[in-house]
Order: sequence, then C-alpha cells, then structure tokens
Amino acid sequence: MPFVNAEKKTEARGMKKAAEQREFETKAVETQADTMRYIDAFEFVRVGKSLEGSVPLARFVRLLDGLPEQDPAAMVRWAAQADRGPLGEELIRLDVATALTLRCQRCLGPLAMPIESGVVLQLVQTEAELDNPDTFDMSELAAEQAGEDYEKVLGSRKFDLQEQVEDELILSVPYVPRHERCPGGESEGGDGQERKPSPFAALAQLKSSSGDVGK
Ligand SMILES: [Zn+2]
Repeated sequence: MPFVNAEKKTEARGMKKAAEQREFETKAVETQADTMRYIDAFEFVRVGKSLEGSVPLARFVRLLDGLPEQDPAAMVRWAAQADRGPLGEELIRLDVATALTLRCQRCLGPLAMPIESGVVLQLVQTEAELDNPDTFDMSELAAEQAGEDYEKVLGSRKFDLQEQVEDELILSVPYVPRHERCPGGESEGGDGQERKPSPFAALAQLKSSSGDVGK
C-alpha cells in the first residue's frame, strides 16, 4: 500500500532528522567541553546532560589572588551533572577537585592542600528568585527534606560554568591553613613553649567523653 509506505518514509525522514539533530547537539557539547566556559544551563538540565573536563589552575585568577606561587602543572578537574529536585527544580550537580599551594599560617611555609568539593546549583530565572529571606520558597523546604542545600544561581543560555567552579573552589579554601606538623618543628614560628594539642587529639577526647555520657 503506497499510502503506508509514504507515511513510513516521512517517519524515517523524521527519525533521520532527529538523529542529525542529536549529532549536532553532541558536537556542540564537545566544543563546549574544550573551552568549558559557557553552557546553556536550562537546556543542559532539560536534556539531562553531563559534562566534565580539566582546566589549568592558572586560569582561576580570582582563586589565586593572594595565594602563593602554584605548581604550574596543576589542573582543576570538574564534573557537571544535570538533575531535578523533588519539585522539579532545575539542578546542576557540580564537583571540583584540585591541588592548591597555600601558605601555612604558623610557619608561613608552603602547604600542599588537596581540595575536593561539590555543590548543587539550583537554576532560577530571575534575580528576584535568588535567595531572599523575605519570601517563603517551597524549593528550600524540598531541598531540606531531601537532605541537601541548593545554591541558587541565575541560569542563562550562556551560563558561566568556570565561574561556578571557581566560586566553589574559593569557598573550599581553609580559612586558616596550617601544617599538621610544620617542617623544622618547634624551632619555627614562636617560643617553642607553645604546644597546642592537635585538633585530632581533641577530637579523640571529645569522642571518648561523649562515649562516657552514653553509658
Ligand atoms: Zn607550617
């Protein structure tokens, strides 16, 4: 029956077109992965995309401002995964990892600090939807119930992923970084009398005393 055939042909053509479209989208994603920087955030979530890559640490100028000299070969690894919240919130799960060189606040020597962190970004459409203490927001409640804390960000068709990676790294830098044991030991940084218990010893003590309470 020619009629059926014609219909099938149209269908086949439609499928081919869809396949071409997918291929086009895949190519677009690959290009974005190379340059990393911008994605269409809403589209990213709508089709459930994921992306990952690595970028030289030296490119994160805001992060490195005020930090000592870094390993020139250091890279930042990142992964972004689209997701939906319990109320259909548009989410991007972002994980970041790198190795920073910080300055020890006790001996002022360089301190290697591996950083690994993650954040769940919730896309909003307008500035007004960004965190506002005066408004009640169902999505905050939903996030809380899901045991998560969504970080609201303004989504866009040219969403700066690198900026989000950099923000997360900046938030992950310890406020007062210190060697567990400074190289050179007691002779450095002070009168040698100062022997503070290590934070781990304090933690062990806390654990054992809370264990006593439980008995
Ligand atoms: Zn130190």
